[in-house]
Amino acid sequence: MDEREVITTLKILIIGESGVGKSSLLLRFTDDTFDPEQAATIGVDFKVKTLAVDGNKAKLAIWDTAGQERFRTLTPSYYRGAQGVILVYDVCSKQSFSKLDAWLNELETFSTKHDMVKMLVGNKIDKEKREVSKDEGLKFARKHHMLFIEASAKTKEGVQCAFEELVEKIIQTPGLWET
Ligand code: GDP
Ligand code: MG
Repeated sequence: MDEREVITTLKILIIGESGVGKSSLLLRFTDDTFDPEQAATIGVDFKVKTLAVDGNKAKLAIWDTAGQERFRTLTPSYYRGAQGVILVYDVCSKQSFSKLDAWLNELETFSTKHDMVKMLVGNKIDKEKREVSKDEGLKFARKHHMLFIEASAKTKEGVQCAFEELVEKIIQTPGLWET
């Protein structure tokens, strides 16, 4: 039994093009389930999960979208106060990869914490028709000072790691979460 106290509540966002697997990654992380029938438009909006990292325990409030990302019309309140973001693309969709710059611009415009930690996730690596190499993902992440991992919400690969590494980095960043 883990007796450590929760040290903080963190606001984490999941953004990226519609259909890349944002909701699926979140459900895999919080409930350890995957539903292939899940309609791309049905978002889970908001999930809370407590995570122990590096001897600390953090409560994560993870914000999903309910389809608003389709027209990139997330409101400023969606971004406000977030300490971390997971930016997702589909490794089988060059198109979703090419929209990453637009998402970073939106983040730059609306985020209120400019030392926010960013994690780039290349999802759906279980699929066969890859259009974006791991190297391309890595290069993009390096260029924009992001953490990077490839994952599959379907097989679980990389999912837990993505959230853990993001939270670890947030906790290691002075001034980002302490009150
Ligand atoms: P969102 O619009 O970004 O929230 O995407 P969803 O989570 O709704 O996923 C869109 C579609 O991709 C759904 O049919 C999912 O079942 C499917 N999907 C999501 N993640 C994966 C994955 O890792 N592998 C495969 N094969 N399909 C996935
Ligand atoms: Mg969704």
